[in-house]
Amino acid sequence: MSLNEELKNILTDTERFLKQQQELYGDTIFTQKSEPLSAESTQIPVSTKTVPVIPEIDLFGNSAAPITSHHKSGEPILPAFPNESWTETKNLEELNNAINTCMKCGLGKTRIKFVFGVGNPKADVVVVGEAPGADEDEKGEPFVGRAGQLLNKILEAVQFKREEVFICNILKCRPPNNRDPQTDEIDCCEPYLWKQLEILKPKIILCAGRIAGQSLLKTNSSLTLLRGKVHDYRGIPLMVTYHPAALLRNPNWKRPCWEDMQQFRKLYDEMKAGK
Ligand code: URA
Repeated sequence: MSLNEELKNILTDTERFLKQQQELYGDTIFTQKSEPLSAESTQIPVSTKTVPVIPEIDLFGNSAAPITSHHKSGEPILPAFPNESWTETKNLEELNNAINTCMKCGLGKTRIKFVFGVGNPKADVVVVGEAPGADEDEKGEPFVGRAGQLLNKILEAVQFKREEVFICNILKCRPPNNRDPQTDEIDCCEPYLWKQLEILKPKIILCAGRIAGQSLLKTNSSLTLLRGKVHDYRGIPLMVTYHPAALLRNPNWKRPCWEDMQQFRKLYDEMKAGK
């Protein structure tokens, strides 16, 4: 292998590693403290390598708490709807018609299609992802690409059919080059999702990935802290698990995702049984 190829492989591996760390922990990089190198030392000690540290309570030292103030339940008090006419719509079709020409953020100019969401308007279960990708932008439907096919399998594994749930995203338009949604884009777009949830009144919400969970719960907590727990979104139980695209990149996360989904199904069954 040439030196160039070797360097390229190292960069690819580094990029993959950082992406996985970001999926789990957000935009903070954790490094282990190391003693300063002594004068005689000629080698970089192992302890200076960047390693994820999983703290007991708060991954960020001070920011695992929700961004906003709290109810007694410990869950954040969520922001109010903007004072705009679409907030008066009464069903999903009316809402879609009222918002699908949105130009509030820059993504309005670059999208092919507005991706409102798809599924059963009487769904008990709503799945919330991050934002449309290229396939979704082209089709105008969420989760239709590779990640979408895996999402279908994940749902089927716990006896939910794609058609029986409702699937949507935090952002309704595709961020260029599939970059992470920006705060201003989320601020503009997320109220549409709140309205969808108000109309749908699901029994339970599943967030696919850190960004969906952080946005809906108004928290900076990492995926590691968010998953495996039942949260409260405006009185509706909400669980967070890995994004299917993350599972495509790192199949080792399929097992913990499976565990999350079993917990999700159990909770759903218990709620249906009125427990
Ligand atoms: N990833 C998402 O978060 N949503 C989609 O709709 C597709 C991929």
